[in-house]
Amino acid sequence: MDGRVYRSSGVTLNWQIPAEANAQPEIQNLRWVWRCNSCGSNGIKIVMPTNCPHCGNNTSNLTTRRYLQPAGFAVDIRYKPHNDISMPQYISVLDPLISLGSSDWIPMPNAYYGRFRYTRQGHIFHHSNGLYGNGFALCLRCGLADSMIINTEIPTMLKHHKRLRGGRLNDGEMFCPGNDADWSILKNISLGVSTQTEIFELQLRDDHGQPLDKVTAYTLAIALRRALCQLLGIEENEIGTHAASSRNEQEQVAYSIYLYDNASGGAGYVSQAALLLPELFRKTASVLDCSRDCDSACQGCLLTYDTQHHLDDLNRHAAKLLLSGAYLNALDIPQHLKAFGSESHLELEPLVLAMNREWQRHEVVIVRIYLGGDSTYWEPLAWKLNDQLSRLNAEDKKLQFIVPESTLKTLSNSQKSELASLVTFINAELYSSESVSVANESNLPLIVEIGSNDFRGSWAASDEKALAPSSQWGSGEMGTQYVFCRKKELIPVQSKNWKKVKLSELNGVPSGFIQLVIGNEFDGASISFGERVWSLINKKVPEMDLLLNGSTKIKKIHYSDRYLCSPLTILLLHNLLSELVNFSVLEENTSLLIQTAKLGYSNINSPLKIYHDWIDGNDRKMIVTTWFEEFFKKFSWEEKSKFDLPHERKLEITWENGKLLTVILDQGVGSWKLSPAIKSQFPFQSSVEEQVKKLKILNALIESCNPLHSVNWYVLIKN
Ligand SMILES: [Zn+2]
Ligand SMILES: [Zn+2]
Ligand SMILES: [Zn+2]
Repeated sequence: MDGRVYRSSGVTLNWQIPAEANAQPEIQNLRWVWRCNSCGSNGIKIVMPTNCPHCGNNTSNLTTRRYLQPAGFAVDIRYKPHNDISMPQYISVLDPLISLGSSDWIPMPNAYYGRFRYTRQGHIFHHSNGLYGNGFALCLRCGLADSMIINTEIPTMLKHHKRLRGGRLNDGEMFCPGNDADWSILKNISLGVSTQTEIFELQLRDDHGQPLDKVTAYTLAIALRRALCQLLGIEENEIGTHAASSRNEQEQVAYSIYLYDNASGGAGYVSQAALLLPELFRKTASVLDCSRDCDSACQGCLLTYDTQHHLDDLNRHAAKLLLSGAYLNALDIPQHLKAFGSESHLELEPLVLAMNREWQRHEVVIVRIYLGGDSTYWEPLAWKLNDQLSRLNAEDKKLQFIVPESTLKTLSNSQKSELASLVTFINAELYSSESVSVANESNLPLIVEIGSNDFRGSWAASDEKALAPSSQWGSGEMGTQYVFCRKKELIPVQSKNWKKVKLSELNGVPSGFIQLVIGNEFDGASISFGERVWSLINKKVPEMDLLLNGSTKIKKIHYSDRYLCSPLTILLLHNLLSELVNFSVLEENTSLLIQTAKLGYSNINSPLKIYHDWIDGNDRKMIVTTWFEEFFKKFSWEEKSKFDLPHERKLEITWENGKLLTVILDQGVGSWKLSPAIKSQFPFQSSVEEQVKKLKILNALIESCNPLHSVNWYVLIKN
């Protein structure tokens, strides 16, 4: 700092010290950072996590640490700056924790060799545990902080300390009131900073299909950084790098290689790595050659300012062995994937991003999506492409879906209903075809075509299963690879063999059921949602009215819905079921079972809004259980994997006299959204108690998600 060295004695506290000297301040930037030693994921929470939110492993496998993100470092005003730069105490910064959230994986050009992914919204957490690794002791009153020498003991500097920065009175007079309050001196605190940036992650396998060891991964990370900087013509300090243990697609322990932009927010560097992959690896192989021909690493090759703490993890020969000729040759498009002949390019981005890339550069008027694959995996309303499709519709692009007749036949009623809802919502045309459409020079199925008068972009998939509209569509999660071809030509008109599908053909009433067609009937305050639902059912199904207002009690209630992922869905479901209390049909013994899917990786890495998904499955379970148990003493919550649950949302109520009510609820409680003007913040970061409290007081205006398309529920009562 201006050629002078200050000894930082503390941190600037950016919260208000309460007027009453004894009250504990609410400290927003005091949080917990956790890392799961089982699956390698990590993250930040306000409350200490009890289980890994991703793999569910319990506390013994979690490393947790309380940390403070300082607003700045303060200099003790009693401390005189000096000019001796040999004196500053060097506080080592630990390896960063890196998180890419739910970004999609893409197989390497030859999938045998592993996979990679990148995100523009990754998180890097840098932290320090002080000089002795025991963290810092920190006075919450004045911000004075010092490394802890012994794990449990407050360092001398904080015993009977004066206020850092003196306060309003003269220096020397003022003892910090923090000395007298129990809460004010925290022990074993880390100092940490979390930043958002672009991150690229590689998970490679060697020639024998084995995951990389630590040394090979770390050495390769350093060499890849140098190669990327050389290709992009930038300085090495622009890009950070690291290798850390993680899990691969077969749940084996693996080492991931990370490259990230050091500039907070990202600088657009590492996101180019995917598209440069073949060149990047060839360059990396040459970086591993050392002019001094050293045994492992030296200043002539891989030793740099930030690799000095990882000397033991550097061995250029290990990495060179991996990048043998076979490895480098496997980076080009394999023959069997040349769907468009010599103009075929391997697609190195997930399809959603790839499509974005193309329509930002070229004029696109038609977007044609080929659907198909195994109907088990169809979930049209959870389709990864939906947000893009709504945007394209808003821009007046023509959207067309083509589905083979054979696939249409195998869809369930609820899948057809979702497809119809989606098609109306985004104003698409739906066609059926006699067979799967393939790319002209191969048998590989076409998945997307976009274009205009003089541009045609086409993608084919390595496997038909990729054609199912699902939450993983367009990613390489199931090992699918994509091939791309760009041509300066007219996108062909639609085939004469395609038949337009009428939406009415998609809605079938299950036999024996009474259909409820719901428009805006359930719109209104969320608190009276259940009241509106039951009053409509009672009106349309008189037998139900008799049951609910009769004297026979309900024995058990069972609700099954894959998509109970957000506080909003739980709010509406709770309202729907707890409304039954007002009919005096419940008793102590009435049991309630709710079945839903385990939380997948969400698209939103840091949920904020009530309609975002929870990231932490344990939070969701605790919140739902706490809240529902107040109404249903015999409550159970069951999570299964998504495809082990039926696609339809179903409510079953069994009365003590054996009567059984079945309601099939189209898209369940997911058919309603918040009205646009409603404040929608939800405290996902807070404790379970806080989140339950919020849900209990919440009353929001809701409306139908898709006013153009009515919601269909089906009701049946059996004796
Ligand atoms: Zn885990
Ligand atoms: Zn103090
Ligand atoms: Zn060397």
